[in-house]
Amino acid sequence: MNDTTQPRFAVDHMLIKLGKYLRIAGCDAVWDKSIRTHELIDRANAEGRTFLTRNTRLQDQYPPVKHLLPIQADDPVEQLGEVVRATQLDVRRRLFTRCVRCNVALDTVPDKKQVEGCIHPNVFRRYEDFYTCPSCGTVFWKGSHVRNTCRKLGIGEDQCRKDISVRSCRPS
Ligand SMILES: [Zn+2]
Repeated sequence: MNDTTQPRFAVDHMLIKLGKYLRIAGCDAVWDKSIRTHELIDRANAEGRTFLTRNTRLQDQYPPVKHLLPIQADDPVEQLGEVVRATQLDVRRRLFTRCVRCNVALDTVPDKKQVEGCIHPNVFRRYEDFYTCPSCGTVFWKGSHVRNTCRKLGIGEDQCRKDISVRSCRPS
């Protein structure tokens, strides 16, 4: 599910919630509270990431940002809307295709028997399609959280991938 046509992002320390929403929307987004803003800008520049910030004086205070997208809204949902509009993100195709914790694309589980031991038997019986994070091993499947998350993010339900869930569990 990796592709290079979608923009990649770095969010500053004030926009981490937006960063998480971007991952839910299937985007490669990074943040790092352990490094300073100028280091994050260096990383964004080196990796070709669009830098997201609400700091209107950023260009006065820090080295030049190659790809800057200033964010105006206070609310993270509205912030996501700003990014979607500015970059024409294909949310419809990408929603819930990335592990929010690890920022890597999910793998499709070819045979659901592979995840039988780590999920509740009722879930195993009810659903056919499962996905795993190749980094942390979390298992995802379709569930009612999709609709709720779409509503929260202000994304029309018709835009949701019905076959992906945000419910997850850790394999034992
Ligand atoms: Zn993960």
